[in-house]
Amino acid sequence: MKSASVRYRIVPSKLAAHRLEVRCTVDNPDEAGQRFALPAWIPGSYLIRDFARHIVSIRAECAGKHVPLVKIDKHTWQAPPLASGAALSVVSEVYAADLSVRGAHVDPTHAFFNGTSVFLRVVGREGSACLVDLRRPVGKEYENWRVATTLPPADGESGAARQNGFGLYRAADYEELIDHPVEMGTFTLAGFPTCGVVHEVAITGRHDCDVERLTADLRRLCEWQIRFFGEPAPMSRYLFLVTAVGDAYGGLEHRASSALICARDDLPYLGMRGLPERYRGFLGLCSHEYFHTWNVKRIRPQAFASYNLDVENYTSLLWAFEGFTSYYDELALLRCGLITAKEWLSGLARTIDRVHREPGRQRQTLAEASFDAWTKFYRPDENTPNTSVSYYAKGALVALALDLTLRAGTAGRVSLDDVMRALWLRHGAPEDMRGVGDDDIRLIAEELSGLDLEAFFADAVHGTSDIDLARLLRPFGIRLKRSPSSRAPSLGIRTASEGNELRLTTVYDGGAAQSAGLSANDLLVAVNGLRVTPASLERLLGRHRAGDEFTVHVFRRDELMDFTVRLAAPPRDCHRLMIATKSNPLRRGWLYGTDCPSPD
Ligand SMILES: [Zn+2]
Repeated sequence: MKSASVRYRIVPSKLAAHRLEVRCTVDNPDEAGQRFALPAWIPGSYLIRDFARHIVSIRAECAGKHVPLVKIDKHTWQAPPLASGAALSVVSEVYAADLSVRGAHVDPTHAFFNGTSVFLRVVGREGSACLVDLRRPVGKEYENWRVATTLPPADGESGAARQNGFGLYRAADYEELIDHPVEMGTFTLAGFPTCGVVHEVAITGRHDCDVERLTADLRRLCEWQIRFFGEPAPMSRYLFLVTAVGDAYGGLEHRASSALICARDDLPYLGMRGLPERYRGFLGLCSHEYFHTWNVKRIRPQAFASYNLDVENYTSLLWAFEGFTSYYDELALLRCGLITAKEWLSGLARTIDRVHREPGRQRQTLAEASFDAWTKFYRPDENTPNTSVSYYAKGALVALALDLTLRAGTAGRVSLDDVMRALWLRHGAPEDMRGVGDDDIRLIAEELSGLDLEAFFADAVHGTSDIDLARLLRPFGIRLKRSPSSRAPSLGIRTASEGNELRLTTVYDGGAAQSAGLSANDLLVAVNGLRVTPASLERLLGRHRAGDEFTVHVFRRDELMDFTVRLAAPPRDCHRLMIATKSNPLRRGWLYGTDCPSPD
């Protein structure tokens, strides 16, 4: 392995200036002139990010001599033809100041990077195995730094040869190289074995996490998910890379790890009782990214069977990969006993609220939302709620609807669980090279259940009408109740506080404000001649009734304008799910899984 023809060396170089130095050496470079390119996006986050814009400097050398590089597009450099046999090295300095799960971040407290931000792709050699030398930054203050990553150690490189994890690692190809994020620093590290898989949690940033509680809860969750898809697990080890900060929330899935960022207050603390909402949210995030280990990292849509990292990769199936994962991330918490049925149902009701509050669900189908993720979901603006539907939230409702349809239509014999396992066996486990096609999920569900699901998918995925969840939930003894979230009449706006004032962030299509001429970005300063603050608006509205007229004063640009709004009835957009009957075998199978009967 030490003779790998592509080798990388990476070291945090100027930490205060957020710099990494990355060397890429290739033996026998392309005789026509070797090209090197950095990805334009990172798998799992569907936005063109152009990581190469963070390259501060780049140079090449061969046998100790400078080699000129020509930049041929926004992220590709080309070397001239060289005498055969000589190794070519490219050294780049990368600016790393993006403290998100998608990029790279270096400062004197730690270094975190995704391969997509730092490792140049040797064009034409993407299938070659490579070696990576992870170097400790120079300086006494970094002596106690260590490494957390699931990159496999290079052969013969273990134990004493490695110091705190610094040293040589290997990847079978470029895609693997960029699928193992790396953390360097003085993080907290804890481990737990589950189903023969070594799991670890590394927490970076100041925190007071009760690590024992966290690992105990994660263990239940991971065990349930591994058993759900069936042992053995597809990975031999797994790492949760957690960055704790003041306030943030996000995660990105990888084949044997996930990068997570959260508020430190989301983590459990010593003496904490029960499952506070914040911690439940964090466990949901871990559950989500972990479920992706199967659903999207291995069971993949056709468009991701082999990534093209230069351009957008379009798929109409994100509703299945993100939406179904969102459905199961919460269901896993219930099935493994971390939350109760009542808590799970209230979470589900909030998802229904989210979908039903946005008029965009009547404009964009789930297939369209998936396809346009690159330019719409990942680039939201003030009009997004009017024109788009979330493939996460509505995708989760489609998973729910499909699960209920399958269970009710087969007297509990077949469920979405069976569809997921069939997807895993046919498209995930055998490293299917074709990927999941647009109709495969319907075809598998029809084959397993014997039901005709053509109309279901036409409506749910390719249509914009609301799914009749109340009807689907009835056989499970669950009532869906809809009511207004407030008694106050509605303006039909979404706002954000700006100091003591209110900015209209969205003006809903068909709402009272839009009919009156108000616009997103208007600054709401007064109502009926009186100054309004974020706290007083709701109170003012509460003293009126639908049909009343309301004079609204706003600044648009720097011009003061008045509008007369006729207030509308409050929308019935608040949902509650209630267990209506005492015992119901269909519901029991759904909530607790068919193979583990539990008190209903
Ligand atoms: Zn996801």
